Amino acid sequence: MGIAENIEKIRAEIDEAARRSGRTGGDILLVAASKMNGAEAVRAAVAAGVDACGENRVQEMLQKLSERAYDGAPLHFIGHLQRNKVKSVVGKVNLIQSADSPELIRLISAQAEKLGIVQDILIEVNIGGEENKTGMALQYLPEALDTAAESAGVRVRGLMTVPPISAESEKNRAFFAQMRELFVDIGRKKYNNNIIMDFLSMGMSADFRDAILEGANMVRIGSSIFGARDYTK
Ligand SMILES: *Cc1c(COP(=O)(O)O)cnc(C)c1O
Repeated sequence: MGIAENIEKIRAEIDEAARRSGRTGGDILLVAASKMNGAEAVRAAVAAGVDACGENRVQEMLQKLSERAYDGAPLHFIGHLQRNKVKSVVGKVNLIQSADSPELIRLISAQAEKLGIVQDILIEVNIGGEENKTGMALQYLPEALDTAAESAGVRVRGLMTVPPISAESEKNRAFFAQMRELFVDIGRKKYNNNIIMDFLSMGMSADFRDAILEGANMVRIGSSIFGARDYTK
């Protein structure tokens, strides 16, 4: 199947899960996770109406930006952002989904202030508490929020997570539910306008239905749109 057909099928599945959770497909943003796919494939996804494109690697993103692959869709950075790459990303993307430490938030903010902009970010949470996994441990979340509240160059728009890879769907539903609780709790707290809980980004090809059932309103889908990634290249 082609990219447009894949997206049509995914949209129908998103709509079904959304309806089961009292919403409609229109309430869920579909981000095409386009790592390892070239500009042509990205353009096809944009033409088929994805809500945004998400990239993991800075070099790859800059290459595709130079090819104008994302024209017509917002661009998100969804991969681990190294401190020395902050300058290459801030201001070039609409949303950094992977702000995963208080220090990174400070660096993003400083760079944004230099450019005279406010960078939208999501805070990435390591909800499974896995070692060697991106996202911040839960214990750092209060500090990250306080840092963001004081940082004029960033605006937190929500939370993102990649849960542990699990064979049992029930287990990941519990992680998704926990994220949803954090999302609601933080939204109720009285921070300043730097912290707005708009987006709960969770769910990938294998688990986006579960994520939506537990409250995700943004899903990041790669292989179901573009086909399996070829790691031999
Ligand atoms: C690759 C990636 C996705 C998409 O994964 P698929 O399983 O291919 O849908 C989503 N989020 C992040 C952060 C990714 O790196």
